[in-house]
Parts: sequence; structure tokens; C-alpha cells
Amino acid sequence: MARVLFLGGLGRSGTTLVERLLGELPGVCALGEVVHLWQRDIRDDERCGCGARFSACTFWKQVGERAFNGWANVDVDRVHTLRETVERTRHIPRLAGAGEVADDVREYASYYGRVYTAAAEVSGSPVVVDSSKHSALAHVLRWAADIDLRVVHVVRDARGVAYSWTKRVSRPETDGTDEMTRYSPGRSAMLWNAHNAAFGLLARRGVAVRRIRYEEFLTDPRTELIKLADFAGLRLAQDDLSFVRPDYADLGVGHSAAGNPMRFTVGRVTLRRDDAWVRAMPSVQRRLVGAVCGPMLHAYGYPLSLSAPQEA
Ligand SMILES: [Zn+2]
Repeated sequence: MARVLFLGGLGRSGTTLVERLLGELPGVCALGEVVHLWQRDIRDDERCGCGARFSACTFWKQVGERAFNGWANVDVDRVHTLRETVERTRHIPRLAGAGEVADDVREYASYYGRVYTAAAEVSGSPVVVDSSKHSALAHVLRWAADIDLRVVHVVRDARGVAYSWTKRVSRPETDGTDEMTRYSPGRSAMLWNAHNAAFGLLARRGVAVRRIRYEEFLTDPRTELIKLADFAGLRLAQDDLSFVRPDYADLGVGHSAAGNPMRFTVGRVTLRRDDAWVRAMPSVQRRLVGAVCGPMLHAYGYPLSLSAPQEA
């Protein structure tokens, strides 16, 4: 049974960095945001984290053969239809119910289950990481047969998240022709509340959920990685974390299929939390997000009155 570490949380919370670091651990295969695999990879043939087009990447070719007898056999329209029907934030209350779910939920989950199982077999890794982030998908995966689902809920100060969503970022996998989505601070704040609450609900439904704070993770990445490896059921040897230093990490080539541009980064990356919002975010926006997200920021241990995030 494939052990799946699902990285959840609102985008711009640091999930890609967490995924890249986890992907360096022996026994872990990081897949990127599998939610986008159907359109961006199978259909649009965008670039894998290894730099090759999806159709030319040997790893993904083998996964496709094992999971579906080749990606050509995946009915992408069917996946999209199922996604429209079941994987929406507004459906979370129904997905989180105690009773049975509709067959289309199980069918949609089965596509992911097959990818995870095949990826675990091809890579020989007991743990695969999906950094899809979406809370509704995490609720769907609760109904996937034959996977051992463990969710890492990554939380970052809502003000930092909202500031990040206002910035322009291009998507290199489309060779610079496309930009990542942007949200207004008010919209980010609402989404932050909804997604984080959804992961709290998932934990109350009995799914193994480990919450980490982005700011804390970057304060001591080695210790945090040891804790996450433990959560994933991995036993690390002394040398397994030699790629992480207090201030940087050395990353190898991965096969992250879709997601944040950082999945293409190879070599040394600085491990420093991005606190630009503390200086650069207009105070009116900061107050707005602080007000909308106040109760949950407080619950997660973020100080509301201070301008800088508190050290753990
Ligand atoms: Zn690849």
C-alpha cells in the first residue's frame, strides 16, 4: 500500500519548498501537484521538474504504463468532469460526512490512487509526496482505496500569504508565456480561512494530519524534517540530512510534475523565510487580512498586534 504524504494548505505557504526538501530524503518520491497532472502534463505536455517534456520523462512514462497501460488510456475529460462534480471547496461538508460517499468520489480518488501506487513501485520508495495543496482533494483522497493517507498541513501567516498572492510570478514551464494567478488580499484572506479550516475538519474525521508552520519550519529545517520523516514512518540515518544546513539546502533533480516554478531549482537554495510582507505590505491590507483571519491566526499562535511573525 502506497504511503501518501499529501501537502496541504493555501498556495504560497511554502509547500513547494517543503516538498523539495522531503524529496531529497531516501525512501521519498516527490510527485509535485498531481491535481494538475491531467491537464498540464498528460494533455499540454508541460515540463517535468527534470526539465524534460512530460511525455519524454522516463520516470513518468513508466508510471503511466504501470498505472494505466500508458497515459493515452486516461480519459482526461472524465477526470475533469469528476473533478467538477466532487472536488470543490463547497463540497467539503458533504465529503466530510460520516456516511458513505457517491461512487464518483471513489472513482475520482482512484485515478490518484493508481498514480501514487505506480510511482511508489517505479521509484521503489515507500512514501510518495503529492503537494496538490487543495483541501477538497485531501477530503476526496480520504475515500481512496489502497493508500495510506497522511496529510501535512502547512500554515503560513495569512498576511505573508496574501502579500505573496499580490505579486507577479511567471510560469517557466510554459516558457514564460503564462503568469501564475493573483488574488486581492481580501480574497486571499477568505481562502486562507476556508482552506485551513478544511484541514482542521479532516483531522477531526480521523485522517492523520500534522500541522506545521512555515515560519517554524524555516527556523530549524533539519529538526522539522526529522519530525516529518517520523510522521511519514521513515527512519533516517545520520547522513540522510547532510544536504540540509541551517541556511541552505542542496537539491538534486526531481520529477515534480506540476506546480510552483521552484520545482525546477537544482543546486543550492537559501533557506530563509520570506518576510518581505512585514516591510512591504501596505498597512491597510495588513489590517484587513489580520481582521478577517484574526481568530485562526490566533489559534495557530501568530501574534496579531506585532508586525513581525514571532519566533517559535
Ligand atoms: Zn522527469
